[in-house]
Amino acid sequence: METASPRLLQQLHPKIRNQALAAWMDACAATPKPVHPQIVETLRTFERSDHLFQLGRTIINPDGQSKSNPMGGIVTYAKGGQSLHNYGLALDLVMMVNGKEDWTINIKVVEIFKAHGFAWGGDWKKKDSPHFQMALGHTWQDLLKMHDNKEFITGTNYLNI
Ligand SMILES: [Zn+2]
Repeated sequence: METASPRLLQQLHPKIRNQALAAWMDACAATPKPVHPQIVETLRTFERSDHLFQLGRTIINPDGQSKSNPMGGIVTYAKGGQSLHNYGLALDLVMMVNGKEDWTINIKVVEIFKAHGFAWGGDWKKKDSPHFQMALGHTWQDLLKMHDNKEFITGTNYLNI
């Protein structure tokens, strides 16, 4: 069994960790053999979000770079603190098909994650199909305020929500 996904899922906020693991296991069971939903990112530092935000803006992103788009593609609209990933409340997944990445998401996988209470980035105006999140009734603004007030679960960097 592939081990990167369960390891990444363990980094999610404790409030959504088990639900995410259950959704992922259901998704694995529901996809036929050559197809596998692999988790590529869960918890993301503020620094990494800031870096990703600059890609395609002030830092050249080779992905999507062309004469008419010399900076390359924009990766995210969220700076550090503005993404649910920063609080361990979001995950990204890619479909591995015969061991190759396929960023077209499998609709069965989407339905399974939704049934487990996740919102899907593919439903947004600014589509983010690999992305699932569970906001637990919060906005990133609330969460950032709590983060700035250091409202963490004792001994962790997870917000006490
Ligand atoms: Zn994401």
